[in-house]
Amino acid sequence: MQKVNYGKILDEKLAELKKSGLKPSLLLHACCAPCSSHTLMYLYDYFDITVYFCNPNIAPEKEYEFRKSELKRLISELSLNVNMIDEDYDSAPFYELAQGLENLPERGLRCQKCIAYRLRKTAELAVRINADYFTTTLTISPHKDCEFINKCGGGLSAEYGVPYLFSDFKKHDGYKHSIQLSAKYNLYRQNYCGCIYSKKQSSEVTGNA
Ligand code: SF4
Repeated sequence: MQKVNYGKILDEKLAELKKSGLKPSLLLHACCAPCSSHTLMYLYDYFDITVYFCNPNIAPEKEYEFRKSELKRLISELSLNVNMIDEDYDSAPFYELAQGLENLPERGLRCQKCIAYRLRKTAELAVRINADYFTTTLTISPHKDCEFINKCGGGLSAEYGVPYLFSDFKKHDGYKHSIQLSAKYNLYRQNYCGCIYSKKQSSEVTGNA
């Protein structure tokens, strides 16, 4: 089966918005500053953006607070007119969804549930704040299942009645650009996805504790 080109779908949407002259509101779920850097710059001219930091998967708490503070710093240093809504640290929902899935490798069912949870929270908030669209920075990562993220977003869009902005932010060298921006703004680039299980897997690969 031919793969869906979500990058092309996004570019067609952006071209449509440019032609219309409209600038709708977008609730952008953000996992961290590096992934948000390219994504924010890519979407900024087309949307009135609110960034949403909701990541109960990130552990430990110090790491959560640091990733959040780096995201705030990035927005400030880019001098973008972007709002940010962030959740206080609460890892309980993540440990509940990860039960019995602790030892699965990345991209497995634990990750699908983790991503689906964060997207659902974003869809719920999009309804509450009347956002015209919602989406996530997560498709910029080469480690994430882009197809799953977009299908999940599309399903939640139908459930909540808010359009989901399909994406593949890796396109047009998006991931490479995020690395360049991270270097330019001296952003903290974590060496594990976020949860303690990915931290353990990463340290087993690298030998770092
Ligand atoms: S590896 Fe990443 S996506 Fe998977 S469960 Fe952990 S934090 Fe979530």
